[in-house]
Amino acid sequence: MYTEFFINTHSEEEIIDLTDEVEEIVKKSGKKDGIVHIYVPHATAGIILNESADPNIKTDFLKALEKIVPKHAGYLHDRIDGNGAAHIKSSIVGSSITLPLKDGKLIIGTWQSIMFCEFDGPRRNRKIIVQII
Ligand code: ZN
Repeated sequence: MYTEFFINTHSEEEIIDLTDEVEEIVKKSGKKDGIVHIYVPHATAGIILNESADPNIKTDFLKALEKIVPKHAGYLHDRIDGNGAAHIKSSIVGSSITLPLKDGKLIIGTWQSIMFCEFDGPRRNRKIIVQII
């Protein structure tokens, strides 16, 4: 079963919790067992699993990535559209996660949330694809 939905981002860099949206899609699907694949088809965004309860973790994560991949550090791609760092961060973070589905329930850690990472916002209509296999 294939589903997609869209979100708008509001900052240059932002982490947005998508757990409720994904759990709702899983619930509506009626599927009981399998694999839930969540994929972000964007070259300057990504998706992670981590804690959402403490919002400081999102800030810490973005700050840590900034230290590894500072903006405008001489990237060749910056000559085209100025977002070389965002492309590298997207590659480091990755574009998909896969979670088990058991007895109709998404298996995810108590302190894990599914979170979209914006690295070149703000943007409209960032697409998230959820496929249950
Ligand atoms: Zn670019």
